[in-house]
Amino acid sequence: MDISPDPYAESIDPGVQCSNCEAVCCRLTVVLMPEDHVPDWLVEHDIRGLETLAKGDDGWCAALDPNTFRCTIYDERPAICRKYAMGSPSCRDERRKWRQVPTPIMLTS
Ligand code: SF4
Repeated sequence: MDISPDPYAESIDPGVQCSNCEAVCCRLTVVLMPEDHVPDWLVEHDIRGLETLAKGDDGWCAALDPNTFRCTIYDERPAICRKYAMGSPSCRDERRKWRQVPTPIMLTS
């Protein structure tokens, strides 16, 4: 049996946790694979005809609970969501970009 080390393991930052994140990876476009089975109301088609997960008006995946930042279809979440590694370079990059978004200024009269 081949028990090769995970080539990506060293690039994971164990200090990064979903529990202290606002699910910023769930704003990314999720392309559905043939093996994915999500509820029909969550399926959209992009301009190329690819099946993607629907997003809400806020830009987050429509399957995300906005109050808890938890996935409401966790057990049936698409393959791409399962492969997105917490603390990976891509995860850290999305978190960095999210922190750089300026806070909207409230205008008062
Ligand atoms: S299906 Fe779940 S894990 Fe995947 S983007 Fe939507 S809320 Fe996030």
